[in-house]
Amino acid sequence: MSKFHPDQARLADYVAGTLSYHETLMIAVHLHFCPECKAYVQGLEALGGVLLDDLPGEPVSDSLLQATLNAIESKPEAERRTEPSYRHPEVPAPLQKLVPSGFDTLPWRKLLPHLQVCDIEISPNGPKISLHRIRPGGRIPRHTHRGDEYTVVLKGGFSDSLGDYNPGDFLYRSGEHEHEPVAAESEECICLTVTEEPLKMTNWKWRWMNPFLS
Ligand SMILES: [Zn+2]
Repeated sequence: MSKFHPDQARLADYVAGTLSYHETLMIAVHLHFCPECKAYVQGLEALGGVLLDDLPGEPVSDSLLQATLNAIESKPEAERRTEPSYRHPEVPAPLQKLVPSGFDTLPWRKLLPHLQVCDIEISPNGPKISLHRIRPGGRIPRHTHRGDEYTVVLKGGFSDSLGDYNPGDFLYRSGEHEHEPVAAESEECICLTVTEEPLKMTNWKWRWMNPFLS
């Protein structure tokens, strides 16, 4: 079960279709893991995107939302959405188009001793969608991100000074945030990230790398 979720305003924007392609993708991947947010989104969808468009920022009353969620839960099983099955079950459905052959066949490049990176989509002036793969117990030197960054954990887990993150956890960090992630010892960690700009090493030992990280 995910512990870190997108906030409700962002989920409402997702339903209303007002998020960027990149934010939409990250929320969709989180929903793949998180029944709690998925139920919330389905409740909002049932209330209607038109209503959301007309009332920007108006909170939906708890009683109305609960009534809608109850109506969804009382539907017969066959009427509920079912997840299609894919060839690579480790790849969440919203990522299947970008990672059609599974994680192991991607052209990973080694960025640091414990860290491999694969850019899966780069738009000329937009953010970059990448996968980061950290070896079990691997520590990434302290760094910051020169712009906003979204992360969803896909496999394994990592921790930093603010918490422990597991599959499905959704993180949004601004450019000022500095951290030093460490992967869990039990298995490799794979994260999906959207970054506006490349990361920037702040640990003095690794600052020489900054020109190579773009
Ligand atoms: Zn969630």
